[in-house]
Amino acid sequence: MPDDRVAAEPCTALGGLNQDIEAYPGREVKLGELSVARVLPVRDRRLVGPWCFLDRFGPHAFGGGKPMDVAPHPHIGLQTVTWLLEGEVVHDDSLGFEAIGRPGTVNVMTAGTGIAHAEQTPRLNSGRLSGAQLWVALPDGERHAAPRFDHVADVPTIELRGGLAQVFSGTLADATSPAHHYSPLVGAELRVHASERLTLGVDRTFEHAALLLDGDIAAEGTVFAPHVLYYFGTGRSEVTFESRHGARLLWIGGPPFGETILMWWNFVARTPDEIARARADWEAGLRFGTVKGYDGPPLAAPPLARFARPNPVS
Ligand code: MN
Repeated sequence: MPDDRVAAEPCTALGGLNQDIEAYPGREVKLGELSVARVLPVRDRRLVGPWCFLDRFGPHAFGGGKPMDVAPHPHIGLQTVTWLLEGEVVHDDSLGFEAIGRPGTVNVMTAGTGIAHAEQTPRLNSGRLSGAQLWVALPDGERHAAPRFDHVADVPTIELRGGLAQVFSGTLADATSPAHHYSPLVGAELRVHASERLTLGVDRTFEHAALLLDGDIAAEGTVFAPHVLYYFGTGRSEVTFESRHGARLLWIGGPPFGETILMWWNFVARTPDEIARARADWEAGLRFGTVKGYDGPPLAAPPLARFARPNPVS
């Protein structure tokens, strides 16, 4: 599928029945002023269920300016999911939606055949920024759907023995996020209280991954380090976490994605031709519409033949 005209990354679900927890160190990526940890895709682990991208930004404290400042840029074939721990981010898209993301809210943008958006720190802000940006690959039967945007003002929170879970995507335990998705999945923030143990019941058909956000955590003898993705294969019915001083972690999963996707810049596609056409349309001002509410020029697409890092906080 890859060809030498489009330097896209093919991403295949490897799945895995191995019951050991696998560790995949992320890498630091500089996005303008903002330094982020990219933990998905990483070498040897491109997908976790339908999740194909995960950037962790912050925590940052700032006195002025806009630490988050991503000019209008296009997407196809994916959903962006923005989850904040602290601070605020304003989303503006070419459908005309504007939404402020805050802790406890989730913004889910479905690109389908094409959408453009900008994300920035609002002028009135708390001086804090901490969160995660994730992408979900759309299955082949759904990826040509019309674009849409969903803002969930208050995601479901469930109390668990030893902690709690905020379910921003899909279903966990008996909570389901109202955010619209196109294949089975879970996305949640877990909190483990100090000196507690939390046992999470999970779907045996899902693979999962966890990212430590704050505090200290261990799962089945594995002590988590920051900016490392911990992978859990299918076939599990539960995972037990323990924390000494309390912790927050990101928990994502889904059935192994049965399709090989091609990722280039902000596009998730299947063929190099689709990517080339989407790039040409963006450069020509076609297909993706116009983002109002951002003061500045849109991002230019990188050359096709160069590996383009997927847009970071996008
Ligand atoms: Mn984006």
